[in-house]
Amino acid sequence: MMEKPLTIPPRTIMTPGPVEAEPSVLRAMSSSVLGQFDPDFTAIMNDVMTMLREVLQTENHWAFPVDGTSRAGIEAMLGSIIEDGDKVLVPGFGRFGYLLKEICERVGGDVKLITCDWGEVFEEDEVTQVIRDWKPKVVAMVHGDTSTGRVHPLKAIGHACRENDALFIVDAVATVAGMDVLPDEWYIDGLITGTQKCLSIPSGLAPLTYNHRIEAVLQERKSVEEGIASSEDPRGMDRRVRSNYLDLSQLQDYWSPKRLNHHTEATSMIYGLYEGLRVILEETLPARFARHKENEAALVAGIEGMGLELFGDPAAKLTTVTCVKIPPGVDGDAVRKQLLDDFGIEIASSFGPLHGKIWRIGTMGYSCQKRNVLAVLNALESVLIWQGVTVTRGNGVQAALSVYQNQSKTAAKSLLSS
Ligand SMILES: *Cc1c(COP(=O)(O)O)cnc(C)c1O
Repeated sequence: MMEKPLTIPPRTIMTPGPVEAEPSVLRAMSSSVLGQFDPDFTAIMNDVMTMLREVLQTENHWAFPVDGTSRAGIEAMLGSIIEDGDKVLVPGFGRFGYLLKEICERVGGDVKLITCDWGEVFEEDEVTQVIRDWKPKVVAMVHGDTSTGRVHPLKAIGHACRENDALFIVDAVATVAGMDVLPDEWYIDGLITGTQKCLSIPSGLAPLTYNHRIEAVLQERKSVEEGIASSEDPRGMDRRVRSNYLDLSQLQDYWSPKRLNHHTEATSMIYGLYEGLRVILEETLPARFARHKENEAALVAGIEGMGLELFGDPAAKLTTVTCVKIPPGVDGDAVRKQLLDDFGIEIASSFGPLHGKIWRIGTMGYSCQKRNVLAVLNALESVLIWQGVTVTRGNGVQAALSVYQNQSKTAAKSLLSS
């Protein structure tokens, strides 16, 4: 049987990832294949490292992607530093805290999870006190948890880690390139992100960065593969990282001038990362963060203007995700289905205790733009009315339009006065 040619329906994606890819990223990814040691390709790798340091706002030397989605990067980082019985503290404030806990346990850590209610974040003292009392070797934490739409302040926690000689590892998958993330200033030793969120590249790479404190641990645990090792290379077995694929000490050798062979690099994905990073730096980080704030403000005004309520502590709201309470008696999944079927718009449901209680609307990367925000507000209002839900008709989009108008006035004024 002959299958019909592949056809992909157009979509407006307003979820917390994957989001719409930058068109130039998709074009870059369809370029012809280069081998992973081709000098034209290794030159691209060097440029990727340079741009990644800028986007990650770090002076660290090591900044490169791990092949696989974000959790491959998280697992590489944690698995390369945690050894059997190491004490690991995970302050979790949503689903992704549990993911960190699970990964730390699987790589042999003695994990203590502390939690707060979903929709809230910790008082910083609650976390720093445990660091001082329990003295973990590693503290692993999420910066922005998309499951609850909250963002956690990290600087005081990072400082406590440094003072108590703990390594501070942060999952910043939902925030990098959408909000300010400052690994060096916040005493973050290792930080991981992913491509499919604010970077607006298809999923499949986990860019990460780490400092000399992590590098020292990697150096101690380093073991070069037997078939490619020379007599001087370390071949220690007792502390060797369990995973070969996700051993940062080996990946680091491929991303160093040695170009020591490891996996076959996903060269087409690296083209996508190159172009995605380039576009971010061309827009500039401050302009990009302001764009995320502006669209978030319009979305929030639109949701409230319609008469719907937001979920969670407003003081800890994540710019890139807006959580909306599903009105009582409304079938949240039926609304999402109609948004997709009739309008080609995707928004997200939620996990665990929040399933059926909230929708999550993303404003990330290329998807984070005026026409998408207005489209999702318009469509959501129409679907709710169609399904018999009472909303304040017409107010949502009007409120969002006012936000855009006021912001363009403010921008014009500041241009005049500068
Ligand atoms: C989306 C997200 C991830 C995703 O992990 P993948 O392996 O890329 O699916 C991890 N952490 C956080 C906080 C996220 O928001």
